[in-house]
Amino acid sequence: MINKKLTQLPQSATIGLADRVRRLMASGKEIINLTTGDPNFPTPKPIVRAAYEAIKAGQTHYADSRGLPELRRALAEKILTRNGAEYSLEDEIFVACGGVHALYCGLQAILNVGDEVLVCDPAWMTYANMINVLRAVPIRVPARPENNFLPTLADWNKSLSARTVALIINSPANPTGAVIQKDYLNKLNRLARENHLWVVSDEVYEDIIYDRREHICFASLQRAKDHTLLINSFSKTYAMTGWRVGYLAAPKQVIDNALKASQNSVTNIPPFIQKAAVVALKDSEVKRSTRQMIQEYAKRRRMVIRLWKRDRETPLRLFEPQGAFYFFIDFRNLGLSSFQIAERLLDEVGVALVPGAAFGKQGEGFLRMTIAAAPQDIERGFKKILGWSKKFL
Ligand code: PLP
Repeated sequence: MINKKLTQLPQSATIGLADRVRRLMASGKEIINLTTGDPNFPTPKPIVRAAYEAIKAGQTHYADSRGLPELRRALAEKILTRNGAEYSLEDEIFVACGGVHALYCGLQAILNVGDEVLVCDPAWMTYANMINVLRAVPIRVPARPENNFLPTLADWNKSLSARTVALIINSPANPTGAVIQKDYLNKLNRLARENHLWVVSDEVYEDIIYDRREHICFASLQRAKDHTLLINSFSKTYAMTGWRVGYLAAPKQVIDNALKASQNSVTNIPPFIQKAAVVALKDSEVKRSTRQMIQEYAKRRRMVIRLWKRDRETPLRLFEPQGAFYFFIDFRNLGLSSFQIAERLLDEVGVALVPGAAFGKQGEGFLRMTIAAAPQDIERGFKKILGWSKKFL
């Protein structure tokens, strides 16, 4: 016998596409790859130095499975001062192997077989996959473009059943760039309270936000903390995707369970990585580097918007992302599926994007383009896309 849930889990269609991109690149064809969710910046130097020093100092053994107290203290301070929520470093914070692992342990901590979890459509594909792996049931809630890619309150309500135990939000959002405003979050909080739901709030893009918008941490809302699982990561803000460090902040009962999930799988996060994470949170040179990275994303975002506005003929529509580092481009006027468009863009102009249907049914007709790639690639790639789109006029 074999695990049927995993066998049945569809292998992501985007992996097939990514394989094709790699094959084409290996064969010498020039491909502009605008698919990645990985910052094209190096990890700031003080962070790298701190890891190196920690390794030299022998921080290379098993460590506290909740995370080093020093890092949990720095996180508690950060969540208090930056996010406006107070968590105890003793039993409400857990250091995980990236945001993915924080999410996995958090969901494992709250879900039982057959429980339903509300997930926006479109959304990062890992949510629904993970819920399935845990033998619970993802219920997709339409987040339509005309509503700024957010479900209406009526849509959330319609998706509830006696089995619903949680809902997941992600602001700023991958793939749409939507940032959720405070009044909407308050309404969602009321809905969660009235229906005794957990709110899993994925805030990994909290720092990548444009036009002076404000990121609101869900746990900072009134009477929200006791039913919130705050998921965050060092990956995006600090260009630390390969380091695999993130965290979960949640009520003690959730952390207690999440810890068991982690102790029985990864044991602990490497201590030298955690030492570097403390420096990421505290160092002033790192703060300068992250500010520069965010300014650079904002510059690239403006460039894409400018190129699109200047082109008066393209049938493509652009939604300006309010946060994160993706454009979710509207190709619906072309009358093709997002996978067909992704294949044709690859074959005909050598540009790789992620098909929107990979993020859910509502993503059909859209494709995700990253701005976490080199600016010259973004410019050349987007110009090619605009030129190609005119075949359909
Ligand atoms: N959440 C969202 C919305 C993401 O896009 C990602 C990565 O792409 C993650 C969480 C997890 O990132 P990591 O596991 O690198 O922290």
